[in-house]
Amino acid sequence: MNDKRNDQPPLSRRKLLKAGVGAAGIAAMLGAGVAAANAQVTKKASHKDAGYQESPNGAKRCGTCRQFRPPSSCITVESPISENGWCRLYAGKA
Ligand code: SF4
Repeated sequence: MNDKRNDQPPLSRRKLLKAGVGAAGIAAMLGAGVAAANAQVTKKASHKDAGYQESPNGAKRCGTCRQFRPPSSCITVESPISENGWCRLYAGKA
């Protein structure tokens, strides 16, 4: 009566548990890395630091800036902003 299935499950479960702990550890590390990256992405310039104003600077306005995200966001300056606003970080569309 040498049933190998009865001999192997404890070892297999142990291996699975070890693999599970490893995967959980890796997932936790990746999660922490993503959280840190998100924290950096969400750190935007204040209106004051960017010299933001609610009116355009000649033909230059948020609506024509590459960093503008409709309807009222910018990837580098704190929201909300106006499509007709402007700041020193303006980057015209090519
Ligand atoms: S970078 Fe300045 S000009 Fe460009 S969208 Fe953002 S706030 Fe507007």
